[in-house]
Amino acid sequence: MGKIQIVRREQPKTKPDPEKLGFGQYFTDHMLVMDYSAETGWREPEIVPYGPISLDPSAMVLHYGQEVFEGMKAYTLEDGRIALFRPDMNMKRMNQSCERLSIPPFDPETVLEGIVELVSLDRDWIPDGDDTSLYIRPFIIATEPCLGVRAAKEYKLIVILSPVGSYYPEGIHPVSIYVEDQFVRAVRGGTGAAKTSGNYAAGIKAQETAKEQGFSQVLWLDGVEKKYIEEVGSMNVFFKIGGEVVTPALSGSILAGITRDSVITMLRSWGLTVTERKISVEELFEAARKGLLEEAFGTGTAAVISPIGTMKWEQEQITIAGGNTGEYAKKLYDTITGIQKGLLEDRFGWMKEIQE
Ligand SMILES: *Cc1c(COP(=O)(O)O)cnc(C)c1O
Repeated sequence: MGKIQIVRREQPKTKPDPEKLGFGQYFTDHMLVMDYSAETGWREPEIVPYGPISLDPSAMVLHYGQEVFEGMKAYTLEDGRIALFRPDMNMKRMNQSCERLSIPPFDPETVLEGIVELVSLDRDWIPDGDDTSLYIRPFIIATEPCLGVRAAKEYKLIVILSPVGSYYPEGIHPVSIYVEDQFVRAVRGGTGAAKTSGNYAAGIKAQETAKEQGFSQVLWLDGVEKKYIEEVGSMNVFFKIGGEVVTPALSGSILAGITRDSVITMLRSWGLTVTERKISVEELFEAARKGLLEEAFGTGTAAVISPIGTMKWEQEQITIAGGNTGEYAKKLYDTITGIQKGLLEDRFGWMKEIQE
């Protein structure tokens, strides 16, 4: 620590009202920037005041979308210490996304050290209220000014920080889902397994249509047969059917969520059987008709656990767990957020503490 060059903001910004943080609306005083060029490779990261960046209008990211990103969180623990949740997994996944997008890989330790230094510098911005955290958004964009369609020779890695409030202002509550049978998010061989902006751009229309019809998210089916369940919104998805927990196997078009991995580990440690396999929407609805579908929930860094209360597919609508938060969804939410807040023992070694 301490070897990263820091240019401090002269006047710290006014901090937002901790009761009205929302998600991703406020940004801290500083950001981490690291440049790449084909001649020099990745240079040393620097911390500079948060602010607009200058980009050539021909910057390749603006035309062909060569971009990857991550989403992770820092927490103030009960005793005032600060910690990140499984940040090594985010660094690893970001490099895997880079590989898919033909972006040169970076040294994960260098970037993680930079993130730790940045979070430490802006630590006064980490909210300490219930269910609040500091959301960390690393991303890489192709900055080379050129309209040729090929891998860029210049990139910028940036890390910005945003204090975020509870994802559920009224506490964890079930959402209604619409099974999307027209649009698809990703196909095998595409970029679904990478965290890249294009996947999100392609999903917005379905999301908007679902909202217009009164649903909060879409359930994505596979892009080939439109038969098998892949993800829910931008979360991974789990179902508890007849006592067994089932989640779609990582098929190549599904994002390997870190929350997904944590949930599988946690459920297995409680003695539940968790199976990663293909599951069709027909099988799911058939289980619901027979009264075997006990729970359904999404998993992701932003909401942690998002219970699914109702699901509509073609003309049929099912209610899950009586429209309430299921037993395991609640238990997972309480346990994972408890570990993240330092209230429960970190028995899997997931928290990385930040030393002052
Ligand atoms: C980020 C993301 C997830 C969740 O991943 P976590 O590591 O658990 O936050 C799931 N699906 C998609 C498409 C994502 O982009």
